[in-house]
Amino acid sequence: MVDTKTLVEKGSKTQEKKTPGAVGLLERGAFDQLFQVLQAQGYTIVGPTVREGVILYDELESPDELPIGWTDEQEAGTYRMQKREDEALFGYTVGPHSWKRFLFPPKHRLFRATRGKDGFDIEEDKYDGPNYAFLGVRACELQAMAIQDNVFLGGDHVDPHYRSRRESALIIAVNCGKAGQTCFCSSMGSGPKAGTGFDLALTELISKDGHAFLLEVGSKKGNKIFKKLPIEKAGKKEQKAADAVVAEAEAQMGRQLDTEGLKDLLYRNYQNPHWEEVAEKCLSCANCTMVCPTCFCSTVEEMTDLSGDHAERWRRWDSCFTMDFTYIHGGSVRQSTRARYRQWMTHKLATWFDQFGTSGCVGCGRCITWCPVGIDLTEEARALRASDQGELQTGMQAEA
Ligand code: SF4
Ligand code: SF4
Repeated sequence: MVDTKTLVEKGSKTQEKKTPGAVGLLERGAFDQLFQVLQAQGYTIVGPTVREGVILYDELESPDELPIGWTDEQEAGTYRMQKREDEALFGYTVGPHSWKRFLFPPKHRLFRATRGKDGFDIEEDKYDGPNYAFLGVRACELQAMAIQDNVFLGGDHVDPHYRSRRESALIIAVNCGKAGQTCFCSSMGSGPKAGTGFDLALTELISKDGHAFLLEVGSKKGNKIFKKLPIEKAGKKEQKAADAVVAEAEAQMGRQLDTEGLKDLLYRNYQNPHWEEVAEKCLSCANCTMVCPTCFCSTVEEMTDLSGDHAERWRRWDSCFTMDFTYIHGGSVRQSTRARYRQWMTHKLATWFDQFGTSGCVGCGRCITWCPVGIDLTEEARALRASDQGELQTGMQAEA
């Protein structure tokens, strides 16, 4: 379990202070025992699995449900699964799901109201679901969780629903051995190696010598699991192999984002005509916000039955791309797609710093992959920078 109080108060605003821990080797043949130990300790395991043509996160009963031998190929607006040449369990990057769907579900009842003699009796919903063990959390996703911790647990108004789920969760990170073409976590300082915020971290090692996992303990809770596993000693050779796995992912990183002065650049370019060009392509479909592991906007809906004696209030994900999102009397504040895309990107990469002290983007690349028209925020940032520096205007003059 990660102590959310520590997460918010210690170190940087959103990162848990790292507990240095033991390191050891778990052979692939003994990997099933990780499932058995987690299940014996009462955890419901959630991890990657193949479903509906993608690798997504769902509850798992056995390691056989992991995406064994599968990988993913991603580009702007494109996702394809492919077979690998080996039997890697974690040989993919990230799919359309993020862990926020388990910590901050897409739809969730807040309370029920029943008419009584003296008005309505309110029954608030409390979390009584399972203690999750999240298996396969990537470094960028750890950072995304830390960002959402700050949103939901920082400040005066703590979200009790998020807190219950978050505090009971066990986090098992997996260091990336493969980066996607839409990944840019190294630009955002969030990956590809898990730094903090995990209970256990694995690095998958596959070579002609065999298939094993280097395990690193990140917390006391993780240590309890570690001690129950048939761990073998890991030496310099294994550590070197694990470093090489992460180095390979770093080398494959498909995208980059120049963050130098980016916040001020976005503030300076609020009226840049480039926003209009993006708006001509953008469908305002909200996919980018749904797949983003840090987006947290929601709305509430009330429902009553026909008798009028029972009512329920539900919270569901919302998006700054919908017209209703900014609806106040008289209409929506952000009427145009231009205004809505500008709001989203400026929030992610600029105003988030003023609001929460960090970037709102961890470089996972999901918004690029899952945008149906392939809009790429790294490209949009580059175009704005070029325009800001007068390069576009110069180019246009030269052409004319
Ligand atoms: S803005 Fe895009 S790349 Fe950044 S965290 Fe969200 S989905 Fe990932
Ligand atoms: S940027 Fe892409 S994913 Fe986001 S709202 Fe526009 S079309 Fe949809």
